[in-house]
Amino acid sequence: MMLDHGGDGTTPEGSPRCSRKAPLFGQITFVGLGLINGSIARDVRRLGLAERLVGTARRTETLDQACALGLVDEATPDAAAAVRGADLVVLGVPVGASGEAARAVAPGLRGDAIVTDVGSVKGKVIELVAPHLDLRRFVPGHPVAGTEESGPSAAIERLFENRWCILTPHSMTEAGATERVAALWREIGSKVELMDPAHHDKVLAITSHLPHLLAFNIVNTADDLEGVLKAEVLKYAAGGFTDFTRIAASDPTMWRDVFLYNKSAVLEVIGRYIEDLVALQRAIRWDESDALFERFESAQAIRREVVRAGQAYKRIPSSKYPRANNRQQLSRTFV
Ligand code: NAP
Repeated sequence: MMLDHGGDGTTPEGSPRCSRKAPLFGQITFVGLGLINGSIARDVRRLGLAERLVGTARRTETLDQACALGLVDEATPDAAAAVRGADLVVLGVPVGASGEAARAVAPGLRGDAIVTDVGSVKGKVIELVAPHLDLRRFVPGHPVAGTEESGPSAAIERLFENRWCILTPHSMTEAGATERVAALWREIGSKVELMDPAHHDKVLAITSHLPHLLAFNIVNTADDLEGVLKAEVLKYAAGGFTDFTRIAASDPTMWRDVFLYNKSAVLEVIGRYIEDLVALQRAIRWDESDALFERFESAQAIRREVVRAGQAYKRIPSSKYPRANNRQQLSRTFV
Protein backbone atom coordinates (compact mmCIF):
# COMPACT_ATOMS: atom_id res chain seq x y z
CA MET A 1 0.00 0.00 0.00
CA MET A 2 1.32 3.40 -0.91
CA LEU A 3 0.62 6.22 1.49
CA ASP A 4 0.30 9.48 -0.39
CA HIS A 5 1.70 12.58 1.19
CA GLY A 6 0.08 14.84 -1.40
CA GLY A 7 1.67 16.72 -4.24
CA ASP A 8 0.44 20.30 -3.90
CA GLY A 9 3.92 21.78 -3.58
CA THR A 10 3.60 22.53 0.13
CA THR A 11 4.70 20.66 3.22
CA PRO A 12 2.14 19.68 5.89
CA GLU A 13 3.35 22.68 7.90
CA GLY A 14 2.26 24.86 4.99
CA SER A 15 5.65 26.22 3.96
CA PRO A 16 6.43 26.08 0.24
CA ARG A 17 8.89 23.52 -1.01
CA CYS A 18 12.00 25.23 -2.23
CA SER A 19 13.31 24.04 -5.61
CA ARG A 20 16.40 26.13 -6.12
CA LYS A 21 18.50 23.59 -7.96
CA ALA A 22 18.09 21.34 -10.96
CA PRO A 23 17.17 17.84 -9.81
CA LEU A 24 20.15 15.46 -9.71
CA PHE A 25 17.91 12.41 -9.65
CA GLY A 26 14.41 11.50 -10.79
CA GLN A 27 13.35 9.27 -7.89
CA ILE A 28 15.27 8.73 -4.68
CA THR A 29 14.08 5.92 -2.41
CA PHE A 30 15.02 5.91 1.25
CA VAL A 31 15.24 2.50 2.89
CA GLY A 32 14.85 3.29 6.57
CA LEU A 33 13.21 6.56 7.55
CA GLY A 34 15.08 7.64 10.65
CA LEU A 35 17.30 10.53 11.66
CA ILE A 36 19.82 10.25 8.82
CA ASN A 37 17.65 9.32 5.86
CA GLY A 38 14.95 11.71 7.08
CA SER A 39 17.48 14.56 7.30
CA ILE A 40 18.81 13.82 3.81
CA ALA A 41 15.22 13.77 2.54
CA ARG A 42 14.53 17.18 4.12
CA ASP A 43 17.52 18.73 2.34
CA VAL A 44 16.81 17.00 -0.96
CA ARG A 45 13.27 18.37 -0.87
CA ARG A 46 14.32 21.83 0.30
CA LEU A 47 16.87 22.09 -2.50
CA GLY A 48 14.78 20.33 -5.16
CA LEU A 49 17.48 17.71 -5.80
CA ALA A 50 15.03 14.95 -6.80
CA GLU A 51 11.68 14.87 -8.54
CA ARG A 52 10.12 12.25 -6.30
CA LEU A 53 10.92 10.89 -2.85
CA VAL A 54 9.77 7.44 -1.78
CA GLY A 55 10.41 5.72 1.56
CA THR A 56 10.21 2.29 3.08
CA ALA A 57 10.56 1.07 6.67
CA ARG A 58 9.27 -1.81 8.76
CA ARG A 59 6.69 -0.19 10.98
CA THR A 60 3.46 1.47 9.80
CA GLU A 61 3.95 4.13 12.47
CA THR A 62 7.29 5.12 10.88
CA LEU A 63 5.80 5.21 7.38
CA ASP A 64 2.85 7.35 8.52
CA GLN A 65 5.10 9.72 10.43
CA ALA A 66 7.51 10.14 7.51
CA CYS A 67 4.59 11.01 5.19
CA ALA A 68 2.96 13.33 7.71
CA LEU A 69 6.25 15.18 8.20
CA GLY A 70 6.62 15.52 4.42
CA LEU A 71 9.92 13.63 4.35
CA VAL A 72 8.71 11.53 1.42
CA ASP A 73 5.88 11.72 -1.10
CA GLU A 74 5.00 8.07 -0.73
CA ALA A 75 5.87 5.25 1.63
CA THR A 76 5.33 1.53 1.66
CA PRO A 77 6.49 -1.39 3.81
CA ASP A 78 7.26 -3.29 0.57
CA ALA A 79 10.96 -2.54 -0.05
CA ALA A 80 11.04 -3.99 -3.58
CA ALA A 81 8.02 -1.88 -4.59
CA ALA A 82 9.54 1.23 -3.01
CA VAL A 83 12.70 1.07 -5.12
CA ARG A 84 10.89 0.40 -8.41
CA GLY A 85 11.73 3.31 -10.72
CA ALA A 86 14.38 4.72 -8.35
CA ASP A 87 17.54 6.30 -9.78
CA LEU A 88 19.13 6.33 -6.33
CA VAL A 89 18.45 4.15 -3.29
CA VAL A 90 19.80 5.18 0.13
CA LEU A 91 20.07 2.45 2.77
CA GLY A 92 19.67 4.11 6.18
CA VAL A 93 19.17 1.18 8.55
CA PRO A 94 21.32 -0.13 11.41
CA VAL A 95 24.56 -1.61 10.05
CA GLY A 96 23.56 -5.18 10.95
CA ALA A 97 20.35 -4.83 8.91
CA SER A 98 22.18 -3.70 5.71
CA GLY A 99 22.39 -7.18 4.16
CA GLU A 100 18.72 -7.86 4.75
CA ALA A 101 17.78 -4.42 3.38
CA ALA A 102 19.88 -5.05 0.24
CA ARG A 103 18.27 -8.49 -0.20
CA ALA A 104 14.79 -6.95 0.14
CA VAL A 105 15.33 -4.16 -2.42
CA ALA A 106 17.22 -6.26 -5.01
CA PRO A 107 14.16 -7.65 -6.89
CA GLY A 108 12.78 -4.13 -7.49
CA LEU A 109 16.00 -2.38 -8.54
CA ARG A 110 16.38 -0.99 -12.03
CA GLY A 111 19.54 -2.26 -13.77
CA ASP A 112 21.15 1.19 -13.74
CA ALA A 113 20.03 2.25 -10.25
CA ILE A 114 22.74 3.47 -7.88
CA VAL A 115 22.61 2.24 -4.29
CA THR A 116 24.40 3.98 -1.45
CA ASP A 117 24.28 3.69 2.33
CA VAL A 118 24.95 5.83 5.39
CA GLY A 119 26.16 3.19 7.87
CA SER A 120 28.73 4.09 10.51
CA VAL A 121 30.87 1.04 9.63
CA LYS A 122 32.01 0.44 6.07
CA GLY A 123 34.01 -2.80 5.65
CA LYS A 124 31.28 -5.03 7.06
CA VAL A 125 28.47 -3.25 5.20
CA ILE A 126 30.18 -3.97 1.87
CA GLU A 127 30.48 -7.64 2.89
CA LEU A 128 26.81 -7.80 3.92
CA VAL A 129 25.36 -6.23 0.76
CA ALA A 130 27.75 -7.88 -1.73
CA PRO A 131 25.67 -11.06 -2.26
CA HIS A 132 22.59 -8.99 -3.18
CA LEU A 133 23.75 -5.90 -5.09
CA ASP A 134 25.77 -5.10 -8.19
CA LEU A 135 28.88 -3.64 -6.55
CA ARG A 136 29.61 -1.56 -9.66
CA ARG A 137 26.75 0.68 -8.64
CA PHE A 138 27.03 0.43 -4.84
CA VAL A 139 28.67 3.48 -3.26
CA PRO A 140 29.29 2.96 0.48
CA GLY A 141 29.02 6.21 2.43
CA HIS A 142 29.08 7.65 5.92
CA PRO A 143 27.97 11.19 6.74
CA VAL A 144 30.01 12.11 9.80
CA ALA A 145 27.18 14.01 11.42
CA GLY A 146 24.20 13.19 13.56
CA THR A 147 22.45 13.74 16.86
CA GLU A 148 21.60 11.43 19.74
CA GLU A 149 17.96 11.24 18.59
CA SER A 150 16.34 8.79 16.21
CA GLY A 151 13.28 8.14 14.08
CA PRO A 152 11.60 10.32 11.44
CA SER A 153 10.69 13.07 13.91
CA ALA A 154 14.41 13.57 14.67
CA ALA A 155 15.14 14.53 11.03
CA ILE A 156 16.35 18.09 10.61
CA GLU A 157 17.42 20.32 7.78
CA ARG A 158 21.07 21.21 7.22
CA LEU A 159 22.37 18.46 9.51
CA PHE A 160 25.19 17.76 7.05
CA GLU A 161 26.12 21.32 6.18
CA ASN A 162 29.87 21.80 6.42
CA ARG A 163 30.39 18.29 7.76
CA TRP A 164 32.40 15.48 6.22
CA CYS A 165 30.79 12.74 4.23
CA ILE A 166 33.18 9.84 3.70
CA LEU A 167 32.63 7.65 0.65
CA THR A 168 34.46 4.31 0.57
CA PRO A 169 34.02 2.93 -2.96
CA HIS A 170 34.80 -0.74 -3.49
CA SER A 171 37.40 -1.56 -6.15
CA MET A 172 34.49 -2.55 -8.40
CA THR A 173 32.47 0.64 -7.86
CA GLU A 174 32.13 2.66 -11.08
CA ALA A 175 33.66 6.14 -10.81
CA GLY A 176 30.51 7.65 -12.36
CA ALA A 177 28.33 6.20 -9.57
CA THR A 178 30.66 7.54 -6.89
CA GLU A 179 30.64 10.96 -8.53
CA ARG A 180 26.83 11.13 -8.63
CA VAL A 181 26.57 10.27 -4.93
CA ALA A 182 29.35 12.73 -4.11
CA ALA A 183 27.48 15.43 -6.07
CA LEU A 184 24.37 14.86 -3.92
CA TRP A 185 26.36 15.24 -0.69
CA ARG A 186 28.07 18.37 -1.98
CA GLU A 187 24.72 19.90 -2.90
CA ILE A 188 23.46 19.39 0.64
CA GLY A 189 26.54 21.10 1.98
CA SER A 190 28.91 18.29 2.93
CA LYS A 191 32.62 18.09 2.31
CA VAL A 192 33.23 14.78 0.53
CA GLU A 193 36.28 12.61 1.18
CA LEU A 194 37.09 9.27 -0.47
CA MET A 195 38.68 6.66 1.79
CA ASP A 196 39.54 2.99 1.92
CA PRO A 197 36.79 1.17 3.92
CA ALA A 198 39.23 -0.46 6.40
CA HIS A 199 40.93 2.88 7.00
CA HIS A 200 37.55 4.53 7.59
CA ASP A 201 36.70 1.90 10.19
CA LYS A 202 40.01 2.49 12.05
CA VAL A 203 39.64 6.28 12.04
CA LEU A 204 36.04 6.18 13.22
CA ALA A 205 36.86 3.62 15.92
CA ILE A 206 38.84 6.27 17.78
CA THR A 207 36.98 9.44 16.79
CA SER A 208 33.45 8.16 17.27
CA HIS A 209 33.02 4.58 18.41
CA LEU A 210 35.30 4.71 21.48
CA PRO A 211 33.77 7.98 22.80
CA HIS A 212 30.29 6.45 22.56
CA LEU A 213 31.45 3.31 24.37
CA LEU A 214 32.92 5.40 27.20
CA ALA A 215 29.73 7.46 27.48
CA PHE A 216 27.52 4.36 27.65
CA ASN A 217 29.85 2.82 30.20
CA ILE A 218 30.18 5.77 32.56
CA VAL A 219 26.40 6.07 32.81
CA ASN A 220 26.19 2.43 33.82
CA THR A 221 29.07 2.81 36.27
CA ALA A 222 27.25 5.72 37.91
CA ASP A 223 24.04 3.71 38.01
CA ASP A 224 25.82 0.82 39.75
CA LEU A 225 26.80 3.07 42.66
CA GLU A 226 24.86 2.50 45.83
CA GLY A 227 22.30 4.58 47.72
CA VAL A 228 23.08 8.21 48.47
CA LEU A 229 26.01 8.29 46.07
CA LYS A 230 23.80 7.23 43.15
CA ALA A 231 21.10 9.77 44.03
CA GLU A 232 23.73 12.50 44.10
CA VAL A 233 24.90 11.64 40.59
CA LEU A 234 21.55 12.95 39.34
CA LYS A 235 21.61 15.96 41.66
CA TYR A 236 25.08 17.12 40.63
CA ALA A 237 25.03 15.78 37.07
CA ALA A 238 25.76 19.24 35.62
CA GLY A 239 29.41 18.89 36.64
CA GLY A 240 30.77 17.31 33.45
CA PHE A 241 28.63 14.19 33.65
CA THR A 242 25.83 15.65 31.51
CA ASP A 243 28.13 16.97 28.78
CA PHE A 244 30.21 13.84 28.68
CA THR A 245 27.25 11.47 28.58
CA ARG A 246 24.95 13.29 26.11
CA ILE A 247 25.77 10.73 23.43
CA ALA A 248 24.78 7.87 25.76
CA ALA A 249 21.18 8.76 24.82
CA SER A 250 21.89 7.43 21.31
CA ASP A 251 20.04 4.50 19.79
CA PRO A 252 21.10 1.17 21.38
CA THR A 253 20.44 -0.91 18.25
CA MET A 254 22.59 1.33 16.07
CA TRP A 255 25.47 1.26 18.55
CA ARG A 256 25.25 -2.44 19.30
CA ASP A 257 25.71 -3.02 15.56
CA VAL A 258 28.59 -0.53 15.28
CA PHE A 259 30.58 -2.41 17.94
CA LEU A 260 29.73 -5.87 16.64
CA TYR A 261 30.56 -4.97 13.04
CA ASN A 262 33.70 -2.92 13.69
CA LYS A 263 35.02 -5.36 16.24
CA SER A 264 38.73 -5.53 15.45
CA ALA A 265 39.30 -1.78 15.05
CA VAL A 266 37.31 -1.06 18.21
CA LEU A 267 39.12 -3.73 20.25
CA GLU A 268 42.44 -2.23 19.13
CA VAL A 269 41.54 1.28 20.33
CA ILE A 270 40.02 -0.03 23.58
CA GLY A 271 43.38 -1.71 24.26
CA ARG A 272 45.30 1.51 23.58
CA TYR A 273 42.84 3.48 25.71
CA ILE A 274 43.16 1.09 28.65
CA GLU A 275 46.97 1.41 28.53
CA ASP A 276 46.70 5.20 28.68
CA LEU A 277 44.10 5.04 31.44
CA VAL A 278 46.32 2.76 33.52
CA ALA A 279 49.19 5.22 33.05
CA LEU A 280 46.98 7.99 34.43
CA GLN A 281 45.83 5.76 37.30
CA ARG A 282 49.45 5.12 38.17
CA ALA A 283 50.34 8.81 38.00
CA ILE A 284 47.50 9.63 40.40
CA ARG A 285 48.48 6.82 42.79
CA TRP A 286 52.12 7.96 42.96
CA ASP A 287 51.39 11.70 43.04
CA GLU A 288 53.16 12.23 39.73
CA SER A 289 51.98 15.79 39.43
CA ASP A 290 54.15 16.71 36.41
CA ALA A 291 53.04 13.65 34.46
CA LEU A 292 49.36 14.44 35.09
CA PHE A 293 49.83 18.10 34.21
CA GLU A 294 51.62 17.27 30.96
CA ARG A 295 48.95 14.79 29.86
CA PHE A 296 46.13 17.27 30.60
CA GLU A 297 48.01 20.15 28.99
CA SER A 298 48.58 18.22 25.77
CA ALA A 299 44.93 17.06 25.74
CA GLN A 300 43.78 20.67 26.18
CA ALA A 301 45.90 21.79 23.22
CA ILE A 302 44.63 18.96 21.02
CA ARG A 303 41.01 19.64 21.95
CA ARG A 304 41.46 23.34 21.11
CA GLU A 305 42.95 22.34 17.76
CA VAL A 306 39.89 20.14 17.04
CA VAL A 307 37.59 23.09 17.79
CA ARG A 308 39.66 25.37 15.55
CA ALA A 309 39.34 22.79 12.77
CA GLY A 310 35.57 23.20 13.11
CA GLN A 311 34.83 19.63 14.07
CA ALA A 312 33.50 20.08 17.61
CA TYR A 313 29.75 19.84 18.01
CA LYS A 314 27.76 23.03 18.14
CA ARG A 315 24.55 23.94 19.86
CA ILE A 316 22.19 24.95 17.09
CA PRO A 317 19.58 27.56 17.93
CA SER A 318 16.09 26.34 17.04
CA SER A 319 15.54 29.53 15.02
CA LYS A 320 17.89 28.11 12.40
CA TYR A 321 15.64 25.07 12.06
CA PRO A 322 12.09 26.40 12.21
CA ARG A 323 10.64 23.03 11.25
CA ALA A 324 12.81 20.90 13.52
CA ASN A 325 10.12 19.86 16.00
CA ASN A 326 9.57 21.91 19.13
CA ARG A 327 12.90 21.40 20.70
CA GLN A 328 14.58 24.49 22.07
CA GLN A 329 18.02 23.43 21.04
CA LEU A 330 19.53 20.63 19.06
CA SER A 331 23.03 19.42 19.23
CA ARG A 332 24.92 18.00 16.31
CA THR A 333 27.54 15.42 16.89
CA PHE A 334 29.89 13.62 14.58
CA VAL A 335 29.35 9.91 14.35
P1 NAP B 1 17.12 5.58 13.17
O1 NAP B 1 16.76 6.99 13.32
O2 NAP B 1 16.99 4.68 14.35
O3 NAP B 1 16.29 4.94 11.96
C1 NAP B 1 16.52 3.61 11.55
C2 NAP B 1 15.56 3.22 10.44
O4 NAP B 1 15.91 1.91 10.05
C3 NAP B 1 14.10 3.19 10.84
O5 NAP B 1 13.31 3.68 9.80
C4 NAP B 1 13.83 1.72 11.06
O6 NAP B 1 12.53 1.34 10.65
C5 NAP B 1 14.79 1.05 10.12
N1 NAP B 1 15.23 -0.24 10.66
C6 NAP B 1 15.65 -0.50 11.90
N2 NAP B 1 15.99 -1.80 12.02
C7 NAP B 1 15.76 -2.36 10.83
C8 NAP B 1 15.89 -3.67 10.35
N3 NAP B 1 16.35 -4.67 11.11
N4 NAP B 1 15.53 -3.90 9.07
C9 NAP B 1 15.05 -2.91 8.29
N5 NAP B 1 14.90 -1.63 8.71
C10 NAP B 1 15.26 -1.37 9.97
O7 NAP B 1 18.62 5.41 12.67
P2 NAP B 1 19.64 6.50 12.12
O8 NAP B 1 20.23 7.23 13.27
O9 NAP B 1 19.04 7.24 11.01
O10 NAP B 1 20.81 5.53 11.58
C11 NAP B 1 20.72 4.91 10.33
C12 NAP B 1 22.11 4.52 9.85
O11 NAP B 1 22.90 5.71 9.81
C13 NAP B 1 22.84 3.55 10.77
O12 NAP B 1 23.52 2.60 9.99
C14 NAP B 1 23.86 4.41 11.50
O13 NAP B 1 25.03 3.67 11.80
C15 NAP B 1 24.14 5.51 10.50
N6 NAP B 1 24.50 6.81 11.07
C16 NAP B 1 23.86 7.28 12.16
C17 NAP B 1 24.21 8.53 12.68
C18 NAP B 1 23.52 9.09 13.90
O14 NAP B 1 23.96 10.08 14.46
N7 NAP B 1 22.42 8.53 14.33
C19 NAP B 1 25.21 9.28 12.05
C20 NAP B 1 25.84 8.78 10.90
C21 NAP B 1 25.48 7.53 10.41
P3 NAP B 1 11.30 1.20 11.69
O15 NAP B 1 11.16 2.56 12.30
O16 NAP B 1 10.18 0.83 10.83
O17 NAP B 1 11.74 0.17 12.69
